[in-house]
Amino acid sequence: MIGPEIESGYIRIEGDRIAELGPMAQSPGAPGTTRIDATGCLATPGLVNTHHHLYQWATQGLAQDATLFEWLVALYEVWAAMDAEVVKGAASAGLGHLALSGCTTSSDHHYIFPKGRGDLFAAEIEAARELGLRFHPARGSMDRGQSAGGLPPDVVVEELDEILAATAEAVDTYHDPSFSSMLRVAVAPCSPFSVSADLMTEAARLARDKGVRLHTHLAETLDEQEHCLEQFGMRPVDYMDKLGWLGQDVWFAHAVHLSDGDIARFAATGTGSAHCPSSNGRLGAGIARVSEMLRRGANVGLGVDGSASSELTTMAGEMRQALLFQRARYGPKALSARQALELATLGGARNLGRQDELGSLEPGKLADLALWRVDGPFTAAVDDPVCALVFGPQPPLARLLVGGRTVVEDGELRTVAHDATGRAGAEAHRRLMRLAAAR
Ligand SMILES: [Zn+2]
Repeated sequence: MIGPEIESGYIRIEGDRIAELGPMAQSPGAPGTTRIDATGCLATPGLVNTHHHLYQWATQGLAQDATLFEWLVALYEVWAAMDAEVVKGAASAGLGHLALSGCTTSSDHHYIFPKGRGDLFAAEIEAARELGLRFHPARGSMDRGQSAGGLPPDVVVEELDEILAATAEAVDTYHDPSFSSMLRVAVAPCSPFSVSADLMTEAARLARDKGVRLHTHLAETLDEQEHCLEQFGMRPVDYMDKLGWLGQDVWFAHAVHLSDGDIARFAATGTGSAHCPSSNGRLGAGIARVSEMLRRGANVGLGVDGSASSELTTMAGEMRQALLFQRARYGPKALSARQALELATLGGARNLGRQDELGSLEPGKLADLALWRVDGPFTAAVDDPVCALVFGPQPPLARLLVGGRTVVEDGELRTVAHDATGRAGAEAHRRLMRLAAAR
């Protein structure tokens, strides 16, 4: 991602960091170390996913032809029934699936906390720890139910004070700001149409007080824009600007419907965004102006978004989807394979404030990397390995390292039981459907 591409090279890892790398001919050799033969593979930084709702693994395939608002209204009632067991199973499958598509760091945005159903935030953290992925869970929230003019039913919203207390506690309990951190917490009220202005303002104050990042959904659909114009008398980005929500410590999910002025403000303030093309396509939300944003200096990362609005979307697949969407809208020069890879790596690392630690293969950075097999029978006909990775379906993942530790080998999860991890997601789905039917 930085510096020249090396046609045949070596990477030496010490502890959890990259110690050195270069052309194979200059490899110093290192007796006594473990050697991974990556002949025939492309080495890239591990992919960084910057928008997700892991619990949604349990509600895939529902409301298949709905708009975002229709889809949300259909699913809120189901989500109201989830418990910690559902979240654990869904998060295990969701994170395992991400690892198998080259993802080494994932954020998650969890914003529904039904009362008396266990510690849902702890459940997803446990799943990430078991698997060994770097995790950035965002403590989400909603406090503007239907009775206050919001979209969600009152049963899935919380009170402002309890949200702030629980969010502060989540940061105090889990957030690790260190360089090698495996877990950082963000503050993430859900969206302008489910959260009060007071909560947005107080959440920003809390996050800045604690030195953690801010995340929310923004400008995803034209319905949202209409809602903001009707209820607040301004467009979504103007509204968030007014609430103090533009800045280097903020990244928004989607950012599809931006004006030229919005893009300029994102660039000027260092506000990031997570482009989620598969979800935007599934819900018919529109195509984000990613290539224009990049040209004007606004940071963009990628997100698979929750599995209920993108089903089995993979991180590698999202690079391809981003490339195809931009080209369908702006022509074949809109986004190159290497730019798509940068969105999925450095762009994501910048969204999470970790561009010094993650997102490129450089000495001193964390040893999070993916080895893609590009000499296999169905991938070997492409000479450019980056093209093979981004233009087509995902090539086999030979190895995934997180901080130098093997999480995936030859397409199988190694830190947890491969099949059982997938099955946990299906069991979470059945459990949630049972709980929802009994409500
Ligand atoms: Zn989302």
